Amino acid sequence: MIDLHSHTNESDGTFTPEELVNLAMERKLDALAISDHDTFAGFDQALPIAQAGGLDLVCGVELSTRIKGSKLRTVHLLAYFLHQPPPPDFREWLGELITGRRDRNQRLITSLQEQGLDITLPEVERMGRTLTGRPHFARILIDKGYVSSFDEAFRRYLGESAPSYVERFAPYVPEAIHRVNLAGGLPVIAHPIRLGYRDAAEEEKFIGELRDAGLRGIEVFHSDHRQADMERYAGLARKFNLAVTGGSDFHGTVKPQISLGTGCNENLNIPKSILDNLRAELAQLPLDPAMHLLNGMFFEAYFNKAGEFRGRKLKGRYLDRLFKLQTVKKFAPSIDFIRKALQPYKIHLPILPSATPGSVEFVMTVRRSDPPRVKSLKLRGRELLTTDEEEEDFSTDVWKLSFVKFTIERLTRRLAEAWSIPPEQVKILCDQKLDRKTEFRLPKGGSITWPEGGIS
Ligand SMILES: [Zn+2]
Ligand SMILES: [Zn+2]
Repeated sequence: MIDLHSHTNESDGTFTPEELVNLAMERKLDALAISDHDTFAGFDQALPIAQAGGLDLVCGVELSTRIKGSKLRTVHLLAYFLHQPPPPDFREWLGELITGRRDRNQRLITSLQEQGLDITLPEVERMGRTLTGRPHFARILIDKGYVSSFDEAFRRYLGESAPSYVERFAPYVPEAIHRVNLAGGLPVIAHPIRLGYRDAAEEEKFIGELRDAGLRGIEVFHSDHRQADMERYAGLARKFNLAVTGGSDFHGTVKPQISLGTGCNENLNIPKSILDNLRAELAQLPLDPAMHLLNGMFFEAYFNKAGEFRGRKLKGRYLDRLFKLQTVKKFAPSIDFIRKALQPYKIHLPILPSATPGSVEFVMTVRRSDPPRVKSLKLRGRELLTTDEEEEDFSTDVWKLSFVKFTIERLTRRLAEAWSIPPEQVKILCDQKLDRKTEFRLPKGGSITWPEGGIS
């Protein structure tokens, strides 16, 4: 039996790392993952103790993330580092998250003090440690008699409509998934039941979107999951080709109904083969992406030094040469690596590097006049041709191609350049049979633009 989800007192559990390791060994677990919220501090302390005792200890972390457009919903994302420890820049990023949350809490304290309340940061942090959030503030406001309930605390002081409201601090879920993948970790959606979907189709759609953003696993087994939930999530794992994980989410005495290994009312009995499969899944990625030259070159073309997607500023010329290597068999792991890293940005890219390259088809219709004029130019159903001169857009994110006249050859070259794809992969399908030397014109005032909302 294994347990891949547990917390120490370095986040919101009550057991010290040593006590947790000892409990796992007493229970004769084959493996234990410590997955504290936003910190590796518990894992770091537990590792030498586990090694001395012969326990297979897995490095994990549970990230609090949020969804764009939803102020309420928090998504917990587990990350497992199965082959190598998390790299320094990932640890640094976690540090920034904790500092960001601390700054937010300090602003909230200041705002409450300005309203005459006696409350300090150290006393709130004693309750919440690295994960101090609004519920801990509410607890203290109740204890001090300022309010009589959680509801009142949120209504008067902590909620969105309260005068002292300060925005929650958490990364968006696609960014978190992306960071975990780049760090060589396995991103897994934690206890999906808590996403709170009543409609199974909606739930499936959301998990599908996370998969497209680079999610690679789903926590099928969890203390909160009933038998039917586990079956549903195992089905989604098969459907979306996600790795299966599971754990009790043990927190010690604050959640006494949950036992390490066996979960809630013995609803868990996770076999060791689950962990073996995870290790095999992760082995498919190059172990150290940064050490891999081609990975680095691809990465440099698409992302800046801060790891941010370059957007319209892709290094297109450079990519053109890299794309030539994509079908070379021994480079396949690099192609796989960059495809995974680019999952969250697919909407901006007409084509990703691929071992089996496809083409980008532009569909052009022309009016048979002299010279022939373009009536429409579509990419995957999206119109690229615009004739509206009124709507001047000065944003640097928008490109426009204007031509006096052009041949298919010249258009192919310019489109390839603008979309950062090799010219060989650009196909222009025209509704008229015309010679490659024929010169076309755009309609008066017409230009070719990026379709609104990208393509997918
Ligand atoms: Zn959680
Ligand atoms: Zn948890």
